[in-house]
Amino acid sequence: MELCTFCGIEREHVVYGPGVCICELCVAEVSSAADHPVQGDGVCSFCLKAERHSCFAFRRRKIIVASAAGDVQICSSCLPIIQNVDDRNRKAASRS
Ligand SMILES: [Zn+2]
Ligand SMILES: [Zn+2]
Repeated sequence: MELCTFCGIEREHVVYGPGVCICELCVAEVSSAADHPVQGDGVCSFCLKAERHSCFAFRRRKIIVASAAGDVQICSSCLPIIQNVDDRNRKAASRS
């Protein structure tokens, strides 16, 4: 069991970042909330990069979700990766 940095609850399946992790329930929740951008200039807790502004959409990096306490943030580049890992985790778990 691992303590999810987002909700603070122990979960079986989490996706790890550097010193942070997020559980599958939080991944599902942030995925649906991702169209409500977080205000302010933050640094992503998973890639440790700051927001990047560009006129090219594919070069933009925006913090799109933050935990309730605001201490864990995920950017637009990391969310798809996290969703992918979460997906693989669940498939691996259902196979065993
Ligand atoms: Zn969680
Ligand atoms: Zn990131």
